[in-house]
Amino acid sequence: MSLVQKRTELSKWYLPAIFQGLGWTFVKMVKNLANKKQMITLNYPEQKHEYSPRFKGNHVLTVKKDGSIRCTACMLCATNCPAECITIKAAEHEDPTVEKFPISYEIDMLRCVFCGFCEEACPVDAIRMGPEWQRPAVNGANFVYDLKELAYRPSLKGGIVSVVDETDRHKAGI
Ligand code: SF4
Ligand code: SF4
Repeated sequence: MSLVQKRTELSKWYLPAIFQGLGWTFVKMVKNLANKKQMITLNYPEQKHEYSPRFKGNHVLTVKKDGSIRCTACMLCATNCPAECITIKAAEHEDPTVEKFPISYEIDMLRCVFCGFCEEACPVDAIRMGPEWQRPAVNGANFVYDLKELAYRPSLKGGIVSVVDETDRHKAGI
């Protein structure tokens, strides 16, 4: 089956199609102005679309109840990331009862494909993808989220506490 449409004599002239397109735009504009409530466009950025809480947007590193990072620097998220956009530097904690922790955790959001594999791979609910999706920036470096941005950006209001409680987690052997 061929998907290539044969050009008619009329389609060789571009002006009719241009005027037809302008006509449709004008009709839509008049309809929208006459009934603004039915407009399906938003006046962004003043009006923002509310996505479902389950929307998989910008990443968040969760924190423990004391506000410290939940991540144990196990590297499972970075290993599973198909875009190889997660970079973690691990360190031993001075407290022997605390597992490893990340001294540096970065996600290059321009390479991320928002597949959610990192969230799925994490054994301790340390990384989640939240409903935030807006993040304008003027250069590429601003799209590399660091630990501070991922866990403590102002919109998170001090961080999101993991649903996995420390006591429950140890009882469950994870
Ligand atoms: S959502 Fe996918 S591509 Fe993005 S950081 Fe996570 S695993 Fe990598
Ligand atoms: S976010 Fe989760 S999977 Fe990634 S290094 Fe930290 S604990 Fe491991």
